[in-house]
Amino acid sequence: MTSKDIRKTFLDFFESKQHTIVPSAPIVLKDDPTLMFSNSGMTQFKDFFLGYKEPKSFRIADTQKCLRVSGKHNDLDDVGKDTYHHTMFEMLGNWSFGDYFKKEAIAWAWELLTQVYKIPKEWIYVTIFEGDSIENLNKDVEAYNFWKEHITEDRILLGNKKDNFWEMGDTGPCGPCSEIHVDIRPLNEKEKIDGKKLVNQDHPQVIEVWNLVFMEYLRKADKTLEKLPKQNVDTGMGFERLCMILQGKTSNYDTDVFMPLIAKLEQISGYKYGANSNTDVAFRVLADHVRAIAFSIADGQLPSNSGAGYVIRRILRRAVGYAFRILNMKEPLLYQLVPILNTQMGEYFLELSKQAEHIALVIKEEESSFLRTIDQGLVRMNSFIENNPTIKTIPGEIIFELYDTYGFPSDLSRIIAEEKGLSIDEEGFEVEMSKQKERSKSAGKFRTYDWVVLHEDLQEEFVGYDYLDTQVKVTRYRKIENKEGEFYQLVFQLTPFYAQSGGQVGDTGYIMNDNEKIDILNTKKENNLIVHIVKELPKYIEFPFQAVVDQARRESISQNHSATHLLHAALRKVLGNHVEQKGSYVGPDYLRFDFSHFSKMTEEEIEQVEFEINKKVMERILLNENRSVPFAKALDMGAMALFGEKYGDIVRVIKFGDSVELCGGTHVKNTQEIIICKIISESSSSAGVRRIEAITGKTALDFLKQEFNSYEQVKSLLKNEEPIKSIEKLITENEELKKQIEQLVKEKAKNEKFLWKNSIKEINGVQYIGLITELNNATVKDLIFQLKNEIENLFIVVGTKTDNKPTLSIGISDDLVKSKNLNAGAIVRELAKEIQGGGGGQPSFATAGGKNLYGLEHAIDKSIQYID
Ligand code: ATP
Ligand code: MG
Repeated sequence: MTSKDIRKTFLDFFESKQHTIVPSAPIVLKDDPTLMFSNSGMTQFKDFFLGYKEPKSFRIADTQKCLRVSGKHNDLDDVGKDTYHHTMFEMLGNWSFGDYFKKEAIAWAWELLTQVYKIPKEWIYVTIFEGDSIENLNKDVEAYNFWKEHITEDRILLGNKKDNFWEMGDTGPCGPCSEIHVDIRPLNEKEKIDGKKLVNQDHPQVIEVWNLVFMEYLRKADKTLEKLPKQNVDTGMGFERLCMILQGKTSNYDTDVFMPLIAKLEQISGYKYGANSNTDVAFRVLADHVRAIAFSIADGQLPSNSGAGYVIRRILRRAVGYAFRILNMKEPLLYQLVPILNTQMGEYFLELSKQAEHIALVIKEEESSFLRTIDQGLVRMNSFIENNPTIKTIPGEIIFELYDTYGFPSDLSRIIAEEKGLSIDEEGFEVEMSKQKERSKSAGKFRTYDWVVLHEDLQEEFVGYDYLDTQVKVTRYRKIENKEGEFYQLVFQLTPFYAQSGGQVGDTGYIMNDNEKIDILNTKKENNLIVHIVKELPKYIEFPFQAVVDQARRESISQNHSATHLLHAALRKVLGNHVEQKGSYVGPDYLRFDFSHFSKMTEEEIEQVEFEINKKVMERILLNENRSVPFAKALDMGAMALFGEKYGDIVRVIKFGDSVELCGGTHVKNTQEIIICKIISESSSSAGVRRIEAITGKTALDFLKQEFNSYEQVKSLLKNEEPIKSIEKLITENEELKKQIEQLVKEKAKNEKFLWKNSIKEINGVQYIGLITELNNATVKDLIFQLKNEIENLFIVVGTKTDNKPTLSIGISDDLVKSKNLNAGAIVRELAKEIQGGGGGQPSFATAGGKNLYGLEHAIDKSIQYID
């Protein structure tokens, strides 16, 4: 069975059990402060379990893209070393939201595995939760009894809290679970060791394939468990592991999910997979990591310096590190795997096939830049070794610096050191690393307390499209701590405050009643809730408040948001339909728009785009807002869906003439309210992505006024002559003058050289010159080198004064260096004491700077003693 068939069979099976099949949610999460990536199938359904939202169907099945590289579920270190953990993997899952429970979940899992996929029953073991006295949880007798209907009792094993009580993160939905393990060892090995002894023992061929979680509890911030409103089922089956079992392989990497990638890697690198355990790890790391990187980029997360983007960058660097060290690849290679990955998975995951070229470009650029970094790191390491020729161990600080500033993995430093017969100070490195961890821990201090619920309220309605001022009641609140201090989050029954999302910043304002007035500092979305951030909790929190949005600020934001839509349409008109939005910021101050385009925009293109926008402003186009359009219809209307965004079945469509967008943001009622739009910069944001920044309304008018004022000033400085012509004239004059000065300096130097030669004294067979000059240091150096070529046995000491600071320069002919054992470097260090300074250089030329101008003459007098 091919992997494509395996995926389809799963979905078809659950469809036949009345499940609604849904697409995978994006792999990168937005609006969730507790989690960066989907780490399991249930992530996107969290709100259904918590009762924050009603599912559209009580039975759902899908395959979910998961990434386990940070937080509670982090498998990164194992990936490549073992054969069944990946960074990115697909989790096949079926869900019940308060519908069926343990009986059906167990029966269907059994039916699918043994009757549809036809895995032999004798290969299967299952586990159930044995209970936990500290948490006051009983053994899962129910699950045990349902399993008994299908499988012999000696194959039902008890498991502890670690393996059989599943939790998404430190807080959130959780519950006892029942795992299904499959023993795929050959018969002779099965006879030697009983399979049940190997369950959950990290044996690569006795592995967990499916976990059935019975979601009944909520883990709270104070660590206690609370019963959820309903009993739910959440199952997750590792797709790649299932493929291994069904394709009769012993490693996930031997399945058709990974083999094409590995074959391509063999072709590029010239190494063979399976030939050597060391290179095998590198093959697996690369074949695995390219998936995590490509899917994250497909969902809009570019590699970057912080947050989720940084995690992706680290994964890419881990991969490049392996390729560089182990496969000897000094050129970018991961990007070459993208087309193969696309053939494998692009059919099911359109975000991949639709953007394959862009993804490859981003990866290539990121790889190249890291390879350049590696080069710089190598130079840094080599220069350290050269400057410290006697050293045997490279200090931990250097290894840390390489790691921290150059992103150089420490094992790479270790290998390079070993090649040079050196070792690295592992302990010192660890010390630096833990110092860094401490630093980032205190910087990232973050704590969220549990909600205090005042009124149960399922839906917090947003009324801010129509009202900026309404009466509200606080339904729940909680305290949070982060690096800026302590804050509270308030939730209302309805709100006029727009929560930061889709690039648009959150509203600010205040809530007020007869007792008090509290500032709303920001508004954010957390999962499905709109939370208002305040510094202090209202004293009388049960009372109603008047909630008032900062109107002027909101109007500026709306101007910028509508201008962003016009900009998007103008870019597609001027540059072409390949332009797609890649990110945006819409604030009260300015707007930023990132979009796919391959080259720098020309001045004319920028001007044309700006013209198109302002044309629409002048056309006074009315806002055409439709708040509930079925998703498919919206696409028909010409709106574009962005990959990595989660859209509901019903979407909001914003139209200004030809510009049609799926958008939840706030807008002007008529384009003329934008007043004017001015593009202030066009730059590169990352590979294949350009960035435009622009301003509108009063900000744009102020900007233009300022520009005009500076122009007026320039005019008045130039005595109101035609300014451009005058400046051109000034530039030409300036160049002329520079040339003349250079010529004068040269002539002066020629004269000096003549004087210097005339001042030569012969002392003990040495041609000695000692003097002070007004020439600059560069000219002095030049003259000294000229004279050294012309005069044998020369010993010359020159003092200069620049900006009231003394400098000494000493030149000695090479023959004198040898015959008299003179060393300019050593001499200049001695003489520099006279000018209270220091310096050094080569035996034949050296310089020193100092503080005491008056010591120069004395230093020159003293220099004679070296040849006397
Ligand atoms: P393991 O103990 O093998 O790490 P787990 O207990 O972490 O598994 P769950 O969190 O229960 O796994 O996830 C459900 C299923 O997802 C597992 O049964 C397994 O088949 C699959 N799975 C989990 N982690 C990975 C991974 N890193 N790579 C591939 N598949 C995985
Ligand atoms: Mg695990």
